Amino acid sequence: MIGIDPVIEEILNDALAGKEIDRNGALDLMGATDGEYHALCNVANELRRRSVGDAVTFVSNRNIYSTNICSASCKFCSFRSEDGYVVDTKDILEHCATRGITEVCMQGGLHPDLDTDHYIGIIRSIKEKFPNLHIHAFSPAEIDNMAKISGYSHKDVLLMLKEAGLGSIPGTAAEILDDRVRALICPEKIDTSTWVEIVKIAHKVGIPSTSTIMYGHIESIENRVDHILLLREIQKETGGFTEFIPLSFIPGNKLGQEYKIMGATGVEDVKMIAVSRLLLNDLMPNIQAAWVKLGRKLAQTMLLCGANDLGGTLYKENISKASGGIHGEYISVDELKRMVEPLGRVLVQRDTLYNHLEAP
Ligand code: SF4
Repeated sequence: MIGIDPVIEEILNDALAGKEIDRNGALDLMGATDGEYHALCNVANELRRRSVGDAVTFVSNRNIYSTNICSASCKFCSFRSEDGYVVDTKDILEHCATRGITEVCMQGGLHPDLDTDHYIGIIRSIKEKFPNLHIHAFSPAEIDNMAKISGYSHKDVLLMLKEAGLGSIPGTAAEILDDRVRALICPEKIDTSTWVEIVKIAHKVGIPSTSTIMYGHIESIENRVDHILLLREIQKETGGFTEFIPLSFIPGNKLGQEYKIMGATGVEDVKMIAVSRLLLNDLMPNIQAAWVKLGRKLAQTMLLCGANDLGGTLYKENISKASGGIHGEYISVDELKRMVEPLGRVLVQRDTLYNHLEAP
């Protein structure tokens, strides 16, 4: 490649040859500027093309927030409330009746009293009325909370939820998988080893999950790389991650104010997607550009830098909005097509587990 640093060039050539990129290589890539940056994006785009082709996928889904009452106090959270709510089953079933959705994504706060039976009841009610709807619910932190309240092991909780009809779990509550960072941003949330343990158990009992990172706050570049490499190691062991979703931090909350955080720059956002593609590619081939965090314009750009998925249509999304997100709560199929088709790519509806459905 013309005029680029020979060290970066060698890493990029290794990636194209299917060799695994190590920590030092990943750190070098995260520091890419100018010509190296463009070369990184080109290689990420090529690897995406070889791995998953030209389809850009999305899932038609609806978010449900089960409760905003929470015993934790994460500094980045604008969702939790002292006089909060617990959504009732009637409302949940109304949300599930949204036309055309294939997935309901349910998450909530760590309620101090709601036990495993409460959530099993919700799953059973949904499955009774909507047997074909995929239930994607309960972060590892929520699973841990249920286990503590009910006096069960993590494995027992996961098996009971699966038996009731849970299809997959969101790999949220990961934030940054480094306990020094977690102690500062989410001190009461499960630590790194508990997050890893719950995700591995879920995968091993047949409950797949997504994987996420929340970046662009107080973490270092090393934290970002180590987080992705940890996910890669888990994936080698279990194969249970369906995708990787980098979530760019939105600073309109206590964490943002306390540390005067401005959030990741556009180039940092692009490098997060591109480097993720190089590190994960064939092991975890689906990399999501989360339009709700990035906005439609940057999310579209990500499709040329390693991303192949645009996530959910999200008929209701409160979390980003509460932190100052301005990118909306819902995106239509026409808007998605407008982002995808000018790139010469094809928009394809998928289900939660990445099976392609009929073209929209
Ligand atoms: S991010 Fe989740 S666990 Fe943390 S305070 Fe908010 S609702 Fe609770």
